[in-house]
Amino acid sequence: MKKENIPYKIYLEENEMPKAWYNLRADMKNKPAPLLNPATKEPMTAEELSVVFCKDLVDQELDNDTAFFEIPEEIQDFYKMFRPSPLIRAYRLEEKLQTPAKIYYKFEGNNTSGSHKLNSAIAQAYYAKKQGLKGVTTETGAGQWGTALSMACSYFDLDCKVYMVKVSYEQKPFRREVMRTYGASVTPSPSTETAVGRKILEEHPGTGGSLGCAISEAVEKALSSDGYRYVLGSVLNQVMLHQSIIGLETKAALDKYNIHPDIIIGCAGGGSNLGGLIAPFMGEKLRGEADYRIIAVEPASCPSLTRGVFAYDYCDTGMVCPLAKMYTLGSDFIPAPNHAGGLRYHGMSSILSQLYHDGYMEAVSVPQTTVFQSAEQFARIEGILPAPESSHAIHVAIEEALKCKETGEEKTIVFGLTGTGYFDMVAYEKFHNGQMSDYIPSDEELQQYFNKLPKI
Ligand SMILES: *Cc1c(COP(=O)(O)O)cnc(C)c1O
Repeated sequence: MKKENIPYKIYLEENEMPKAWYNLRADMKNKPAPLLNPATKEPMTAEELSVVFCKDLVDQELDNDTAFFEIPEEIQDFYKMFRPSPLIRAYRLEEKLQTPAKIYYKFEGNNTSGSHKLNSAIAQAYYAKKQGLKGVTTETGAGQWGTALSMACSYFDLDCKVYMVKVSYEQKPFRREVMRTYGASVTPSPSTETAVGRKILEEHPGTGGSLGCAISEAVEKALSSDGYRYVLGSVLNQVMLHQSIIGLETKAALDKYNIHPDIIIGCAGGGSNLGGLIAPFMGEKLRGEADYRIIAVEPASCPSLTRGVFAYDYCDTGMVCPLAKMYTLGSDFIPAPNHAGGLRYHGMSSILSQLYHDGYMEAVSVPQTTVFQSAEQFARIEGILPAPESSHAIHVAIEEALKCKETGEEKTIVFGLTGTGYFDMVAYEKFHNGQMSDYIPSDEELQQYFNKLPKI
């Protein structure tokens, strides 16, 4: 198709938005391994999970067979406040790179929370409300998930209790205040509010906390508070399901112009944006209807897919959560303190882990200074100030486009631009001042964590 025929931005009409989420598991021959009860090592039952999670979300979590879940009307209405999100043709970037490749990105940063996380936050808040709960608890690292959840909870008038990793709480006051603006209460973790928090503080006085530790606190709080459940912003099957809206919209937009991607690229922390973006395309691949190269991009300082092991592991530091089979660096792994680029969870979605294990997708890791170079290049050319997380995908998209320049191939590249970087300016500042360094863990270091994996 000629250039003038494809707009800079492909927007769907509201009535073209997907009305059902797509459950990729329905098309997987090797299903993701079930969550295990940490005490009995038996698969978690719906009953056991319902103590921690909302009932409808448990059903979604355990359902490996239903291909489509209707999106409740209330959620569709909320989606319309910030969706459909644009699929943008990176004409300027293509020109600057002098590449014959055609580059598209799906931009999920057009909402106040600034990332794709709102797609699942609103769904989880909806089901909590539907169940008649008073509120939910969660953890947040840098704060994107907490911000999204606080927006969703205020919409449904639910109480929202966020445990925020202490270093972020202290160093990133802006997101904390956004959460409080939407009515959430925010506690630095580890805290003295929970038994697990007190235990961690005793063992590691002065610790800045970690995601795994904040998860333990949020789960304990939910379990000990009447009318509360715990919600999680990534990794879980239900979150992948909600995020499929990204891929379904992307596919609908591409189909409108008869565009067939060759390469699909996403950054991978817990895997939710990538899992969502690739869902319908991976479905076609699994059913043998089409083929795509799919690339997960992770930080070199937290390389769960590229250097982790595929094993059952704890999802949190306090070992109160179910065990998940995933590519993991070990539940005690915490990226080095100089790591600024997000994507810091020690494990990866069981769905993506299984697909990667079965050879349906590739993974690469990139050091953070390289990521920020691409972030800055992208900002200057395309105008959008990208989140550091998203910039992992930007970097590999640029790399693939430059390969096309060498070979002369006109490949179509689609990548996920998951969010904006306005609250990451301290990291940008370090980069601009030449104070950003890379830290790549050694094999010996990782082996120490692998040695402590639970024996299943
Ligand atoms: C949370 C986040 C990610 C990583 O999470 P996934 O679950 O792997 O998608 C990526 N980009 C942004 C902007 C985020 O906020």
